[in-house]
Amino acid sequence: MGLTARLRTRSEVMADNIFTKIIAKQIPAKIVYEDDRVLAFRDIKPEAPVHVLIVPKREITNVTEARAEDESLLGHLLAVAAEVARREGVVDTGYRLVINNGRDAGQAVAHLHVHLLGGRALGWPPG
Ligand code: 5GP
Repeated sequence: MGLTARLRTRSEVMADNIFTKIIAKQIPAKIVYEDDRVLAFRDIKPEAPVHVLIVPKREITNVTEARAEDESLLGHLLAVAAEVARREGVVDTGYRLVINNGRDAGQAVAHLHVHLLGGRALGWPPG
């Protein structure tokens, strides 16, 4: 790399991200829901008894990068989150949905994802 490194295009960066590979079934994940627009799978390092990531199949970096035509997809992510919460049995006890957006929020994977956390009491505010 070093001097020969070049800036990678946006699509190259996205193609590299781990969620793109999970969506393409190139690497395994514990999938709990799938339709034509969304995939939901268990977080590899769960922070609660239920910790599922709900991810649009379309490559969107984060909420800021979403476009006007993504509005129905963004709404669908929340509808799927509610469906996953039902399937995971946390509707009555409650659950939290989190979207980390950018550096200060600690977004580690540059592919929009909703965390669904439940199965235990969750502290507030977050640290
Ligand atoms: P972020 O910090 O970007 O909001 O959340 C990224 C989440 O992705 C983290 O909770 C992390 O544990 C999870 N994660 C990272 N790599 C993998 C992976 O390869 N498989 C799965 N299932 N989850 C992952």
